[in-house]
Amino acid sequence: MFESVLIANRGEIACRIIRTCRRLGMRTIAVYSAADTAALHVEMADESHPIGPAEAANSYLRPELIIAAALAHRASAIHPGYGFLSERVELAALCEANGIVWVGPSPRCIAAMGSKIEAKRLAASHGVPSVPGYHGEDQSPERLRAEADAVGYPILIKASAGGGGRGMRRVDAPGRFSEELATAKAEAMAAFGDDRVLLERLITRPRHLEVQLAGDKHGRVIHLFERDCSIQRNYQKLVEEAPAPHLPDEVRRKLLDSAVRLGSAIGYDSLGTAEFILEAGDSEPYFLEMNTRLQVEHPVTEAITGLDLVELQLRIAAGEALPIQQDEVVARGAAIELRINAEDPAAGFRPQLGSVSRYAAPEGPGLRVDSGVREGSEVTPYYDSLLLKLIAHAPTREAAVARLDAGLRQLVVLGVGTNQGFLRDVVRHPAFDDVLTTRFIAEAFPDGWSPTPPSDGLLGAVAIAAARHAAAAIEAAPLGPWGMLTGFRVGTRAGLSAACRVQVRPGGGKPVVIDVVAGPDGVRARRDGTDLSAPGALAAVHVADGTVYLVEDGVPWAIAAVPLVDALGQPAAAAADSATDVLAATPGMIAQVLVEVGQAVQPGDVVIVLEAMKLMLSLPAKAGGRIRAVHGAVGQIVTGGALLVEIEPDAG
Ligand code: ADP
Ligand code: ADP
Ligand code: MG
Repeated sequence: MFESVLIANRGEIACRIIRTCRRLGMRTIAVYSAADTAALHVEMADESHPIGPAEAANSYLRPELIIAAALAHRASAIHPGYGFLSERVELAALCEANGIVWVGPSPRCIAAMGSKIEAKRLAASHGVPSVPGYHGEDQSPERLRAEADAVGYPILIKASAGGGGRGMRRVDAPGRFSEELATAKAEAMAAFGDDRVLLERLITRPRHLEVQLAGDKHGRVIHLFERDCSIQRNYQKLVEEAPAPHLPDEVRRKLLDSAVRLGSAIGYDSLGTAEFILEAGDSEPYFLEMNTRLQVEHPVTEAITGLDLVELQLRIAAGEALPIQQDEVVARGAAIELRINAEDPAAGFRPQLGSVSRYAAPEGPGLRVDSGVREGSEVTPYYDSLLLKLIAHAPTREAAVARLDAGLRQLVVLGVGTNQGFLRDVVRHPAFDDVLTTRFIAEAFPDGWSPTPPSDGLLGAVAIAAARHAAAAIEAAPLGPWGMLTGFRVGTRAGLSAACRVQVRPGGGKPVVIDVVAGPDGVRARRDGTDLSAPGALAAVHVADGTVYLVEDGVPWAIAAVPLVDALGQPAAAAADSATDVLAATPGMIAQVLVEVGQAVQPGDVVIVLEAMKLMLSLPAKAGGRIRAVHGAVGQIVTGGALLVEIEPDAG
């Protein structure tokens, strides 16, 4: 098809496009900004070339830089992915002018659908209705105000050139209209360089439904069924599925027919998506807009149809006729996609930054992960927050949900906050099986969402992880006797350094003190003398900077936990298995033995001094009594948790 493809994008979609191009034997050319020198798409491509600084406006959003790179490296085609330049006529036209194939619709189609106002007029002229409102050329405040009053409130002001959920303002009462309009226009001009707006009645229980279209350059347009993308936050999709659940056949028919009619009317000649909004319970879907590009949520369509949409897109761009007839497109089973974003669902979905310290993608039948990150990836403020997508496919929706849940339990993304725990609660919510509307999040979590508080068992696991980490740090230090501790393994019973007291502070709340002890039956966490039961389904643990990061049952946690230290900076000894035993608090060398068998001791008397990392660690008797036994002598290396001194307690 093509010798080579330049991918003018980044993140998960660049990686996903590279995979298909590679399978088809094409040379893959990545471009990257200064913030992406170590990005996954750069590593995956056959070759990669810098195009500018971190700010997208000066790199990924500059058509002339993309074209220059394509010419310099002899790219046969350019795939724009989604976002960035994917719907920019200018880049498509530049490709044409420079003899490079544009993997997308012809500039004519992009232009026809680029403005929501014109797209809606076009739709209307082909019998496809839009949400009642005003889509006119007269943009004077007086006219818009009069139209708004006629439509009625609440009303939505939308930037005609808007996208990605941006450029929309809701107005609830006529008194607010003029002010909101002025702000909307100013924002639209700043964000999109076009201040035209349209007005739409606010649909109260909206379902977002969309149709995947595929047209070729020979005049044929087919649909690849619909998707339901109603679970959204800030007008942006979070969960998408195919086929749309609870959709009456006659409404589905109307939806698919409208989309194909519209696509055919403009001679649509690539992959594209016609978006609709449907008032839950109604039977009249309203056309919203057409996205003339590959969509974020295309994998759910791939799952149910068995097609590779990027391959299809490449073939169409190469001039091939659609390889399938409409009646050969069959939908099998149900597929659901979750967008795993670097965002805090407990704080208005605020973007999170950081570096991915641990990463593991779930695997299993019917599970797919499209990721743009790996261990070590940096999440920077320059681009959108999508890290990866988790997609499940199964014969039934119920089974797909179960697979998603299993995938979420296995997924590990530590080091940067994500919405993983929130999505777990979304897919487990009883309302997830009902008709989904864009009000889902507001209704399912009326008081906002926050993670269920960590269980005691989880805090125990955190304490154990912190203790083991302290042990490993001691082991790793290239000091004196510690070189002898080869074979010491974090996590083995003998190797646990830390008969250790750990202060755990969940979610900035009250600190909790937990003792970690190595007993005959393994490592245990105890709080106030009581064993804590192990938590369920721990996916991974990572300790850094006094914080334990782990995933339990699909919820990622970052919990502060530090082994307590005394005034000398030495780890405090933990509660021993029994109050009468003195254990080695860390692996170390016995520096002093201060007692002998038969000697009387008081609680708090130091009985042994351990040397660990050149620190002297005093181990006191916890109980008063007589020394029954001393295990070990000066100079001996002991493992953490080793029994050093036994005390015969005072009678009574
Ligand atoms: P999809 O409909 O494919 O799910 P979204 O609306 O979520 O697409 O947007 C996909 C990506 O494209 C996001 O990264 C979004 O920020 C970006 N995007 C879409 N339209 C625009 C636009 N007009 N300007 C800037 N970014 C956009
Ligand atoms: P964008 O170009 O940003 O994707 P859309 O017109 O596709 O803009 O709308 C994005 C989302 O905003 C929709 O999926 C829907 O959730 C919400 N929305 C759009 N129009 C309406 C409306 N008239 N009433 C209620 N919600 C709407
Ligand atoms: Mg949209």
